[in-house]
Amino acid sequence: MIGSGPAGVYASEALLEWSDSHDESGRGVVVDLIDRLPVPYGLLRHGVAPDHPRIKGIARTLEGIAQDPRIRFLGNVEFGTDLTLADVRRLYHAVVFATGALTDRTMGIPGEDLAGSFGAAEFVTWYDGHPDVDPDFPLTARRAAVVGVGNVALDVARMLVRTPEQLEATDIPEHVREGFAGNTAQIVSVVGRRGPVYAKFTPLELREMAKIEGVTVVVDPDDLDYDDDNTDTPAQSAGSRAARELRESDRRVGQVCAQLEKWAGAQRDAGLATADEAEAAALAAGDKVVRFRFNRAPVEIVGGGEAGAGGRSDSETDGGAGEAGADARVTALRLEITEPTADGGVRGTGRTEDLPVDAVFRAVGYRSSSLEGVPFADRTATIPHDEGRVLDSPGGDPIPGLFTAGWVKRGPTGVIGTNRSCAVETVGHLTEDLAAGTLPDPADGDPQAVRELLLERGVEVVDGPAWLAIDEHEKGLGEAAGRERTKLPNRAAMIDVAGGLSRCQQ
Ligand SMILES: Cc1cc2nc3c(=O)[nH]c(=O)nc-3n(C[C@H](O)[C@H](O)[C@H](O)COP(=O)(O)OP(=O)(O)OC[C@H]3O[C@@H](n4cnc5c(N)ncnc54)[C@H](O)[C@@H]3O)c2cc1C
Repeated sequence: MIGSGPAGVYASEALLEWSDSHDESGRGVVVDLIDRLPVPYGLLRHGVAPDHPRIKGIARTLEGIAQDPRIRFLGNVEFGTDLTLADVRRLYHAVVFATGALTDRTMGIPGEDLAGSFGAAEFVTWYDGHPDVDPDFPLTARRAAVVGVGNVALDVARMLVRTPEQLEATDIPEHVREGFAGNTAQIVSVVGRRGPVYAKFTPLELREMAKIEGVTVVVDPDDLDYDDDNTDTPAQSAGSRAARELRESDRRVGQVCAQLEKWAGAQRDAGLATADEAEAAALAAGDKVVRFRFNRAPVEIVGGGEAGAGGRSDSETDGGAGEAGADARVTALRLEITEPTADGGVRGTGRTEDLPVDAVFRAVGYRSSSLEGVPFADRTATIPHDEGRVLDSPGGDPIPGLFTAGWVKRGPTGVIGTNRSCAVETVGHLTEDLAAGTLPDPADGDPQAVRELLLERGVEVVDGPAWLAIDEHEKGLGEAAGRERTKLPNRAAMIDVAGGLSRCQQ
């Protein structure tokens, strides 16, 4: 397996389960779980928000699988650098690429390169202690916009209003804990192009926003108006009708809208007629604000050169990104107000407004990276495949012995559990090919050959026992502070604890 995230681990499990039922000795399959990081579990460790410890319980399930003696963890080994396609073809009967997705999609609007414009993954990898990212993250924005209406956008918005005290029990590394101490965010706007019925939030994640102490959620009541009597054009009427039907027919959408309506109702009951009034009241009461702004498409991130170190701007700006100086920082997010179209889509109205912000976080999706020598479809940013069998091009022929699973196979959607059925599908075909004798015989199938090759290349492999040493160390660091774990801050610290090569040679 190349990649030890959920997909790689679930694919290993499926392969071993197949072996248990098809190979009487039960020793016929040996799986190497290879990862470029010294620690396993991919986005489960470096994506799932730290204030979601409930979900991290899945780590225990994955741990249970990974502890099977037929699985060898080979961490700190990068495919494409430490091992090439030619190497793995020479060493294994079959290779499953499960390398996930770690980079941010862009919005394709001016100003995305300004200081203060971040991809969600930049923030997420920082707060989740990804060992390779800069330990400093500038949490200096008073007003931030998060673009996107999926659960990652909710994670980012929620984390932006967190205090260090609220993160005390989590496993974030110490430098991240310290970083949150300087967090100045007061107002976080979650921006979506379309109306709330088209948001991809899950109800549980949305409801969590209501549980953060010191935070008020603000909703614009107009965004929740699906009454086609209140529209000006036939297209708007049709759009409102479609939204209302979706709200009534889809259970998840209904629950999401019900939660938003509950917040709007609380504002109304408090005598606050508009979202602006509700925001002002919350700030006056000393709360932070998370505000949902639907039906607004970002068209430009606006920058200004005069902003201070924090890039603060409380007034609307008249400077476009193109006019700003080289040290320009984000001062506003320009939004075009949208309206629904008769076919259920959305179009811009030409009317824009500038939302004054000091930082913009794009949570518009992740993107997989291509792997050296492995076919890659740029359009979808996935490995072309037929139910997990890697194809030489989209719609092309299968390459015997090469398979794929998880986000790099299907694109960056779906929760952790989705990767299990995805991996089962892939392994089903792998074992079919094994049974049919169509997997190529490796030139050097000795299970020790890969370790010898890596040692020869001077790769500091973090193997299973070395990872356990890191695991124990992190648990010890956590225990000392009364929490389950405290993550180590970087790769060097991990390798140091793991004992590097010397340990792996034992
Ligand atoms: C911000 C965020 C929050 C999320 N929160 C939740 C949540 O709360 N609940 C939930 O169920 N799901 C959540 N998800 C979704 C979940 O994380 C994914 O479904 C899942 O991690 C995808 O699994 P994967 O194995 O395909 O990829 P990944 O988890 O990305 O694992 C890929 C692995 O491959 C390794 N790798 C990459 N390139 C190489 C290479 N060249 N050589 C060797 N190794 C390599 C990586 O280091 C990584 O360990 C979240 C996702 C994100 C982005």
